[in-house]
Amino acid sequence: MNYDVIIIGAGLGGLTAGARLAREEKKILLLEQHDRPGGCATTFRRREFTMEVGLHEMDGLHPKDMKHKIFEELGITGRVEFLPVPEFYRFINDHYDLVIPHDPAEARSILKAAFPGEVKGIDDYFHHVLNARRIMVANRNKPDKSVGQFLDEIIHDEHLKLVLLGNLGYFHDDPYSLSWIYYLTGQGSYYNGRASFIKGGSQQLSGALSKIITENGGTVKLNSLVTSIDYEGNKPAGVTYRDVKGREKAVHSDRAPEIIVNAAVPSLAGSLLSKADGKKLAAAIASNKIGASLLTVYYGFNTPLKRVGNKHYSTFVYDGSVRTQKDILSNNHSDFSTRSFTFVDYSQVDAGLAPEGKSVGAVCCVDYPADWENLSQVEYTRIKADVADTMTGRLEQIIPGFRDAVAYTEVATSLSIKRFTLNPEGAVYGFAQHPDKPTGYLSALPENIHIASAWGKYGGGFSGAIISGYMTALDLLRKTGG
Ligand SMILES: Cc1cc2nc3c(=O)[nH]c(=O)nc-3n(C[C@H](O)[C@H](O)[C@H](O)COP(=O)(O)OP(=O)(O)OC[C@H]3O[C@@H](n4cnc5c(N)ncnc54)[C@H](O)[C@@H]3O)c2cc1C
Repeated sequence: MNYDVIIIGAGLGGLTAGARLAREEKKILLLEQHDRPGGCATTFRRREFTMEVGLHEMDGLHPKDMKHKIFEELGITGRVEFLPVPEFYRFINDHYDLVIPHDPAEARSILKAAFPGEVKGIDDYFHHVLNARRIMVANRNKPDKSVGQFLDEIIHDEHLKLVLLGNLGYFHDDPYSLSWIYYLTGQGSYYNGRASFIKGGSQQLSGALSKIITENGGTVKLNSLVTSIDYEGNKPAGVTYRDVKGREKAVHSDRAPEIIVNAAVPSLAGSLLSKADGKKLAAAIASNKIGASLLTVYYGFNTPLKRVGNKHYSTFVYDGSVRTQKDILSNNHSDFSTRSFTFVDYSQVDAGLAPEGKSVGAVCCVDYPADWENLSQVEYTRIKADVADTMTGRLEQIIPGFRDAVAYTEVATSLSIKRFTLNPEGAVYGFAQHPDKPTGYLSALPENIHIASAWGKYGGGFSGAIISGYMTALDLLRKTGG
């Protein structure tokens, strides 16, 4: 069949682009290889528990936030309920146990009380994160630097740097290879706009976006793996895809003058484009590094964890062996008994993920597929069970009674993310946001291939993917006169 636009992948970037274009009466075909829309923004059921795959905190949503405008415009606001997260995070290491609020003034005074010798550094830090956009414009023609370098310039106390980097895993695995401008923008949005979870889980948002596409005449086909972009002459003109469920595994081809790619950019280069276009794109991304992946231990609890005494939504735990920010990267590669992690207690925001009287939570830490590849299935399963047990033991130290509250655990590694999203190395935020990350690859694409994902110019996370999808739709409407 012929469509106006074919979209490869139903992650947030693909869904947002599809919803925006469908509302402009573009005839959309969205193809997703998984059995549900959302990519990382999905949930799954285990017993009576709904497990959240890819959302702890979504930044922003204040009236000036671009996502606010996007959700209003698409009609998401009335369909999906955003629940404010009570505090930014609790940070624990062997010296400090601090709760950092979203309100920048309160955060500043808590930090100044804990680090009285660092008043100037704390003011400097907040000046930068709260004015990220202005700082970005002022530094446009100067070389970028790393967050590690930035913190070393303004702060002396290594513990303070660690506290401020508590949520580093929301961006990357190493402060010395993360762009400070990228970090300031994201962190600024958490402080300026606070953060939210989605009632019922991120699947609600993905499902609502998918519904907007179909309600406006578009087609969303799940269990449909795109295997190639087809050409007419040397111009992309459609796609071939096959059913991944059912005995037949039928193969289909559809055509469209414009193609939006939500799937990973390295996969586009490696297997979807023609040899010549793929080679050109592969050369253009050769110096881009693939970003971090994550491991999650999903927990179902036989009680709301509040009742066991936990008071916080998001708790970041740094092991005592992390003395300076230079230790963070090696710690992320260390054994799970010392690797830094975050624990999210969804019951703190009444997430509707478990029946009355029960709750769910998740431990999350940086993870690398190389650590899991080449294991037998038996070893893989055994190590995952050990990881869950280790993390439960570490949380029992922080929340006495935690172990007895556990009714169900399951571990998803970076390999699980790779399997469900097809993202190389299980990347959850697209390319690593190194200082001066090359973006030239975006102009190495055929003119009717467009990127809408964490691999695009806005980076990863809910915000990056949603904004990428929206902006790609606008660019396409401008191009096609919609
Ligand atoms: C454990 C975890 C915690 C996270 N926590 C947060 C958080 O707290 N806050 C935050 O903002 N972000 C968080 N993120 C990151 C965020 O979820 C992602 O960055 C974002 O959702 C990525 O969206 P995307 O549009 O790039 O697509 P992805 O989610 O990567 O999805 C891509 C989609 O394309 C499909 N696809 C790929 N290839 C093909 C093909 N050939 N044919 C058909 N379909 C294909 C895949 O199946 C997938 O559905 C987290 C992620 C994870 C995994």
